[in-house]
Amino acid sequence: MKNVIEVCPYCGSGCKINLSINNGKVIGASGANGLTNEGELCLKGLYGWDFIHDTKILTPRLKNPMIRREKKGELEAVSWQEAIAFITEKFKAIKDQYGADAIMCSGSSRSTGNETNYVMQKFARAAIGTNNVDCCARVCHGPSVAGLQLSVGGGAMSNSIVEIDDTKCIFIFGWNPATSHPIIARRILRAKENGAKIIVCDPRKIETARIADIYVPLKNGSNIAFLNSVAYVLLEENLTNRSFIDKYTDGFEQFKQIIMQYPPESTQAITGIDPFVVREVARMYATSPTSGIFWGMGVCQFYQGVETVRALASLALLTGQIGRPNTGLGPVRGQNNVQGACDMGALPNQFPGYQNVTDPEARAKFEKAWGVEKLPDTIGTYLTEIAMKAEQGLLKAFYCMGEDPLQTEPDLSAVRHGFSKLDLLIVQDVFMTKTAAVADVILPATTWGEHEGVYSAADRGFQRFYKAVEPVGDVKVDWEIISLLSSALGYPMHYNNTQEIWDELRELCPQYYGATYEKMDANGGLGYVQWPCPTLDSPGSRYLYSDGQGGVKFDTPNGKGQLFTCDWAHPVERTNDEYPLILTTVREVGHYSCRSMTGNCRALAILADEPGYVQINIQDAKALNIKDDELVWIESCRGKVISRASVSDRTNKGAVYMTYQWWIGACNELIGEHLSPISRTPEYKYVPVKLTSI
Ligand code: SF4
Repeated sequence: MKNVIEVCPYCGSGCKINLSINNGKVIGASGANGLTNEGELCLKGLYGWDFIHDTKILTPRLKNPMIRREKKGELEAVSWQEAIAFITEKFKAIKDQYGADAIMCSGSSRSTGNETNYVMQKFARAAIGTNNVDCCARVCHGPSVAGLQLSVGGGAMSNSIVEIDDTKCIFIFGWNPATSHPIIARRILRAKENGAKIIVCDPRKIETARIADIYVPLKNGSNIAFLNSVAYVLLEENLTNRSFIDKYTDGFEQFKQIIMQYPPESTQAITGIDPFVVREVARMYATSPTSGIFWGMGVCQFYQGVETVRALASLALLTGQIGRPNTGLGPVRGQNNVQGACDMGALPNQFPGYQNVTDPEARAKFEKAWGVEKLPDTIGTYLTEIAMKAEQGLLKAFYCMGEDPLQTEPDLSAVRHGFSKLDLLIVQDVFMTKTAAVADVILPATTWGEHEGVYSAADRGFQRFYKAVEPVGDVKVDWEIISLLSSALGYPMHYNNTQEIWDELRELCPQYYGATYEKMDANGGLGYVQWPCPTLDSPGSRYLYSDGQGGVKFDTPNGKGQLFTCDWAHPVERTNDEYPLILTTVREVGHYSCRSMTGNCRALAILADEPGYVQINIQDAKALNIKDDELVWIESCRGKVISRASVSDRTNKGAVYMTYQWWIGACNELIGEHLSPISRTPEYKYVPVKLTSI
């Protein structure tokens, strides 16, 4: 028996796993002593491995390439050669007739890692000739990337997971760590035991609210009104750091003009929060020696998500709670490598290393390195625009890797309709997902344990994972498949291994240059290198924005943090007599994302299986005569789905909560396609619905 070091393939906590192998099979998993998990794992890490050998619980693993020759025909198994030839012919025809921008590609948080995302965006840009490449950050932390880039210059966590231990005030906003990042939740608990103060803002009484010093049950959709009132108190009570503001920020006067319209007494009707509580939050955050803000989808998945991120960043800038150890801003990434997909430029507006595609200097650098005469210079299509553009005839092909948009996108019937208009849908995945089931081509890929590479944890930490077992079936590693296709299209890619890819991208991205395989392979494969790591002798950076001389320097064009807020606006849709309850989508602790992986794991499937559930407050349930565990219809103006009621007083009155992972009870059927104008992230968190007994 042997143990092989892996990075957990589920959330962004970056936990290291010892995968136990016997006779070429995975037989168990235990926690390895990684930097962020210190030997611990949550149940997904412990039990989320047995699908590797094809349990067929939810769906069998994909084992052969398949094509559908006619739109309404059956999928048939073919050789790799035939599948690649089929795609090549179609891609060439589409490009000749409609141009390169009629083709869209996706990176993936679940693929072979950073190397694959690098190769995929290179394929889109250099082989196809389009910036139409994006990743699932679009539906989650896209607003964090956009908002933080505008406010402080960089879209990543400025602090670190391990810094939570020594952060004296942990301000948790719209993030449920116990469900989405259990091992980080463990650190928060430990910090609390060591004297940290905890503030939790969430309409639902989430697990962490039970240990909070201040719990803020703000009304759904009132984030900016609340944050503006916190900023008001900071100004009113002189809790700001005036010298920090003067030295390191811009925009104070304009910011102040808006904030002065938001005394806590005036926002109570919007937020439902007593002004005394708002004042206590402001005091606790500002006066703690070190304060960090951590947030999740309760911030991002709103029409005003980008603006909310900027309002949070402004609290840090007003108080100087950034640029020092154990302070800062923490958008906690949900999927294990969504940070990496962004780091590697699987974004329609940025090359790897967050270099803008509209910057001629950056383009010239990549053109030279990739041997391309001219790279596209306009921002490409966003993931959430695919169905709409297909409907309009602007997109003809989508190469979808490691994503299941027909489960995860909002307004699923519109997405299904849009996708049906595509001339070519290619799905590269491990399982027959809902999207794979309607694909024209299926390219079966390896999964974790069967390949190696580098992942980025939520706090910019690069880590290595290794191949443990031989793959099942006639499958290939993601980057090899893309390379085959690229070569067939006339742009040869001939990488021999992931290290060659990694070394190529290091040369092109100054902030990753010093993050070598050697550093990550150190300590038995437990090396953790946080970018920026610009030189070979750099150990990496635990936190961002120190100027190295006791001061602060942001990555904005003038080096200053940009204070910003705006007026609160009601979410796009409103409850009414017909649809009186607010639906918000959340996560199930035992399952990951669209559930294709964890739904095929025996232990996890037993813990939570179809149909899903809808959480509802006791009083609302009583008024509707709905009993706990009863099957109910949940209906919005877009349709209805069935689910099981989960009645409790943890859920606030007037709102219901559903996890988006179920095939029966797929709540994304009910969600509207209201996209943030800046990040194009949908408003998953506020949809008027009604519940009825069956
Ligand atoms: Fe750690 Fe997240 Fe994996 Fe759980 S799911 S073991 S918290 S990385």
